[in-house]
Amino acid sequence: MDKILTITNLEKSFHTRDGEIKALESVSFDVREKEFISIVGPSGCGKSTILSILADLEEKSNGEINFSKDYTIGYMLQNDSLFEWRTVLENCLLGLEITNQLTKENKEYVINLLKTYGLEEFIDSYPSRLSGGMRQRVALIRTLATKPDILLLDEAMSALDYQSRLAISDDIYKIIKKEGKTAIMVTHDIAEAISMSDRIIVLSKRPATVKKVYEINMQNKSTPIHNRKCKEFASYYDEIWRDLDVHI
Ligand code: ADP
Ligand code: MG
Repeated sequence: MDKILTITNLEKSFHTRDGEIKALESVSFDVREKEFISIVGPSGCGKSTILSILADLEEKSNGEINFSKDYTIGYMLQNDSLFEWRTVLENCLLGLEITNQLTKENKEYVINLLKTYGLEEFIDSYPSRLSGGMRQRVALIRTLATKPDILLLDEAMSALDYQSRLAISDDIYKIIKKEGKTAIMVTHDIAEAISMSDRIIVLSKRPATVKKVYEINMQNKSTPIHNRKCKEFASYYDEIWRDLDVHI
C-alpha cells in the first residue's frame, strides 16, 4: 500500500508557567493508505499530543509531517461530546453545517450511514435516549459525515464498560474498513490495539520516542472480537506488555 503520511523526528515541548514539558522527543513512523494504526504507550507519554499536531490543533516544535496528498482529517475523542439539545441527525450534521457543506446529497449520505449502522429508529431522538455504545457510533458517524480521508481516534472507546467496548470496537472497526478509511487510534488498551490494528506503534514513556513497531499478523485475522481468540494474540500481548514496562 502507498504511504500517505510520513512523520519524521517529530518533537514537541509545551511551555508552561512551571517551565518546559518535553512531550515528544523524536517520533518517526509512517502510515499507509487504508491502514489501521494504533499508538500505545504509558499514560502521559504524548499520544494525544501526536494526534493534536496531526489535526493542526497544536503546533509541532520540530520535525517533519508529510502528507502525500491534501488529505482531510476527522477527529474523534474519548468523550463523545454530543449536544443533548440536538437530535441524533442534527448532531451528525454539525460538521457539515460548520464547514458550509450541508447539501442535500451530504445529508442523505449521513442518513444512510445512520440507517446502515443500526441507528435508523433514533435519527430524530435526542442523545439521552441512546446507550453509551450507540452514542459512540453516532459520534463516529458525525466524524464520517464530512468524508475525511484519515480518522484520528483518541481513546474513543475507553469511557465505555468492558462489554460495550468490545462490541463498539467491532462496530467501529467494521465501519472504518467498509468506508475505506485510514485510521490512527490512540489507546492505552493493548488488547484493543492488537485486536483492531494492522500495525502498532509502541511509544516510550515521556518524552516519547518510538520504542517498537509491530506488524500484526494472524493466520485467521478477521474482526476485533474474533481476533482476540487467535492463537497469536497472547504472544503479541506479552511482548507489548513487556515493552511498556509497567511497574505495579
Ligand atoms: P497521553 O495522551 O499519552 O496520555 P498527552 O499527549 O496528553 O499524553 O500529554 C503528554 C504530556 O504533555 C503530559 O505530561 C501532559 O501533561 C503534557 N501536555 C499535554 N498538553 C499540554 C498543554 N496544552 N500544555 C502543557 N502541557 C501539556
Ligand atoms: Mg491522551
